[in-house]
Amino acid sequence: MKTVVIHKALDLRLEDRDAATPAVGQVSIAVKRGGICGSDLHYYRHGGFGTIRLQEPMILGHEVAGQITALGSGVTNLKIGDAVAVSPSRACGRCMYCQRGQQNQCLDMMFYGSAMRVPHVQGAFQQLLVAEASQCHKVADGISMEEAAFAEPFAVTLHAIVRAGSLANKRVLVTGCGPIGALAIVSARAHGAQELVATDVSDFTLGLARKVGADHTVNVTTHAEGIMPFKSNKGSFDILIEASGNEQALRLGLEVLRPRGILIQLGLGGEVTIPQNLIVAKEIEIRGSFRFHEEFALAVDLINRRRVDLKPLLTEVVPLQEAERGFQLAGDRARAMKVQIAF
Ligand code: ZN
Repeated sequence: MKTVVIHKALDLRLEDRDAATPAVGQVSIAVKRGGICGSDLHYYRHGGFGTIRLQEPMILGHEVAGQITALGSGVTNLKIGDAVAVSPSRACGRCMYCQRGQQNQCLDMMFYGSAMRVPHVQGAFQQLLVAEASQCHKVADGISMEEAAFAEPFAVTLHAIVRAGSLANKRVLVTGCGPIGALAIVSARAHGAQELVATDVSDFTLGLARKVGADHTVNVTTHAEGIMPFKSNKGSFDILIEASGNEQALRLGLEVLRPRGILIQLGLGGEVTIPQNLIVAKEIEIRGSFRFHEEFALAVDLINRRRVDLKPLLTEVVPLQEAERGFQLAGDRARAMKVQIAF
């Protein structure tokens, strides 16, 4: 079977590997669609991010959906032919954080396609993936593999909403409208936000943001003055979901966040400078949001019941043989939102 392997920055290869056989409690999945994520892109472009660097070749990918082709012994809740979305979150279930229900903070996490630990955890961009049955969430009839492969990034944004608390009667600003920012808009809309405003530097992504639920968008490069009305009375927004990881976006967002507003930091940007006096004077609460765990099931459920429509965010599907073109395209905010690979 073919796999998508990153060796070092800009060295992406399609490699043949032997398919594994499912052991007790495991299943084999013919992967159909795999979404390219920002972290996959970081490995492709820079060989890692922050202090995390590739030490060895690693199969990329953690946003996949496919069809069950074989069952290991003891698997009773799935059958051959089932369509499933596969959660890449493999918490140990035993450590102190798992015991507290904070599996995304697991001390022994084996998240797909991550170089955080050595040896690296291999990813899911494999034509025949062996996974635990417990990672597989059934996809309803009539739901496409493309939609199902959105479950993972959608879960990331649902976790951010959980971190934010109730959105009822709340005005929400989303800064950064890449796939995660756009999905945060969908999540916030699905959870009752009263008003949703989004900022970005690309008209293309802002157009898609409006399509999936933003009431109003501001291009902070070409129409920076568009944010001015929101600065009145010390700020207009109850919640800021910062999805860009960009320092300017964060600063601007903090200026329009009202006193005692909540900042959900979802974007990863490394070291940025925070305006401390503003945080203190406006009594702003800063909350990080990292990955997800139980929200994966919620994501699949919302997709299955058609409570959300994520299809507008899929801008291209590339065949496996053109995986590298998919990676190049996925980084182009002027014309791409989510790019998936067809396996
Ligand atoms: Zn654990």
